[in-house]
Amino acid sequence: MGKLKVVVDRVLCEGIGPCAEETKYIELDRRHKAVILEPGKDKEKLFEEVAEKRKQEVILDLTIDEEDEIFRAAEACPIKAIFIYDPETGEQLYP
Ligand code: SF4
Repeated sequence: MGKLKVVVDRVLCEGIGPCAEETKYIELDRRHKAVILEPGKDKEKLFEEVAEKRKQEVILDLTIDEEDEIFRAAEACPIKAIFIYDPETGEQLYP
């Protein structure tokens, strides 16, 4: 298990969607903006919470396979609206 900080820039996000096909942690909301699903949080509540945010930041505790999925999701975004950081050092890991 490892932790990653995942940030979706909801201003940049154009709702094209390939990110959501790579990981169960991302879904598109009604405005077709990517939302990072937070384990234990009700999805509809989360959609409401992030609706007016410019950025959504979440620290996820992930298996190795899930980490790979998150990187694939970020790489799949054609406009690079998904950022990945090491939450401990703050180092930007992607893009
Ligand atoms: S691939 Fe990028 S632009 Fe498309 S929904 Fe995901 S974050 Fe938004």
